[in-house]
Amino acid sequence: MDRVVDVCVIGAGVSGSATARELSRWKLDIEVVEAGYDLACGASRTNSGIVHGGYDPIPGTNKAKYNVLGAHMIPELAKEIGFRYKNNGSLVVAFSEEEVPHVKELVERGAENGVPGVSLIGAEELHALEPNLNPCAVAALKCDTSGVVDPFGMTVAFAENAATNGVRFTFKTRVESLERGEDGLWRLTLSDGSHVSAKAVVNAAGVHAIELHNSVSADKLVAHPRKGEYELLSRDMGPTFAHTMFQTPNALGKGILVSPTVEGNLIVGPDALDVDDPDDTATFPAGLAKVVEQAKKTWPDYNGREVIVNFAGVRPTGADGDFVIGEVADAPGFFDIAAFDSPGLSSAPAVAQDVAAMVAERLGAEPNPAFDGHRDLPPRFLEMTEEEQAAAIAADPRFGHIICRCEHVSEAEVLAAIHAPIPATTVIGVKRRCRAGMGRCQGGFCEPLVAEILCRELGCQINEVMLQGPGSEVAPYLRGEVRHGRA
Ligand SMILES: Cc1cc2nc3c(=O)[nH]c(=O)nc-3n(C[C@H](O)[C@H](O)[C@H](O)COP(=O)(O)OP(=O)(O)OC[C@H]3O[C@@H](n4cnc5c(N)ncnc54)[C@H](O)[C@@H]3O)c2cc1C
Repeated sequence: MDRVVDVCVIGAGVSGSATARELSRWKLDIEVVEAGYDLACGASRTNSGIVHGGYDPIPGTNKAKYNVLGAHMIPELAKEIGFRYKNNGSLVVAFSEEEVPHVKELVERGAENGVPGVSLIGAEELHALEPNLNPCAVAALKCDTSGVVDPFGMTVAFAENAATNGVRFTFKTRVESLERGEDGLWRLTLSDGSHVSAKAVVNAAGVHAIELHNSVSADKLVAHPRKGEYELLSRDMGPTFAHTMFQTPNALGKGILVSPTVEGNLIVGPDALDVDDPDDTATFPAGLAKVVEQAKKTWPDYNGREVIVNFAGVRPTGADGDFVIGEVADAPGFFDIAAFDSPGLSSAPAVAQDVAAMVAERLGAEPNPAFDGHRDLPPRFLEMTEEEQAAAIAADPRFGHIICRCEHVSEAEVLAAIHAPIPATTVIGVKRRCRAGMGRCQGGFCEPLVAEILCRELGCQINEVMLQGPGSEVAPYLRGEVRHGRA
């Protein structure tokens, strides 16, 4: 069905979802169009989940500005809209005296970028903080404001709060092309054959944002897709390191990080491989072997055991290395969030605030007095005290029906995910929202149960239930005929 809106946001990753929420502070009719089956189908799902302090970007760049602002906003936002965040701090480790000058340079850059809590620490303090660190380490940059976040949960939080403030989300629909009409409206042609006419467009299409930009502007952008592979280790390994452990960047790259995740797992990666296909998220033994090898520089005892899943993400690396943010000079009403690679997750809240303000100003929008910026984090059975668990079961007996044995996820939590403001409609959608299938067995026991609940709640047949989109139907997979990827 063709429709006319004030603003169309292309892409429901963290940047599109955060911008949609910021836009809902104004009296505007807003639609987010997402090609995938769910929120965060691109880099916002497959990244390190680090809230970078902001000492790394070159001073004066968009990256420096938005990273520092975003990192400052995230702790409060986590409480306001309900997503998981932990302020664990980070260390950039020098493994030889030759690397110390570079670490000092980063400390100075941190000061120039206005990052609080950045200092240089010596070997004694470093090894006291991290006893499992390579004994060769001689010094480190310590950043007290860095943290870890659940990147999918952060995107869900932005999107659900936007939805409860009136933003419409359209999934499974790709923006195929767009052009500006003589009436000044942008006319978007969608993959379902319908059209959206919009006064303003926010281009938050991740690795595809460059193509969309180049289709409307004579000022062409260049960015190439760069893949990064990871290993995720079980929660047993989470306490190996307290901080996010970076290696000192050198001519060969930024090195491999080893970090606890906000959920208490340990993540190792990413490598950096330029790829032709922006949607290529396959992992390969050779890449993962390189990740393990390089991680040993930080953690010599790493033996590749306790890995529960591996995955890859692709980021769009801009030719000049910086984000492209704002209205495109020769395309009035078209706003870019492009070349948005790392630290895009950390920067998204600040970028969203600026882009939404630019759009509102261009459209002369009035504030929305009904805006409610609060969203509760859905309750988690595993984290309740025994008394709270008993009370939860008394109020809703489905809290007493455990679906995922590894993560102790109850049926009530699966149902909450399926009936959320932006509902989970696939097995992986449920997994990412409430962690059913996130444990050591990676859904071996609970995925059939989740598929049955989806069938029942969506009123569909088992052969219509998908792991995460077309081609991932669960029926042949449950019969053991195929094996789907499921990061
Ligand atoms: C390996 C890796 C590690 C990273 N680590 C970190 C980190 O630790 N900290 C940090 O701050 N940042 C990190 N980043 C960067 C961060 O993940 C990204 O900057 C951020 O997630 C980008 O968000 P986005 O919403 O712009 O894009 P995406 O998350 O890619 O979302 C874009 C969305 O647009 C949709 N889409 C694309 N084309 C169309 C179309 N034509 N029509 C409709 N929808 C469309 C896609 O399906 C997708 O859902 C990392 C990135 C990678 C890949």
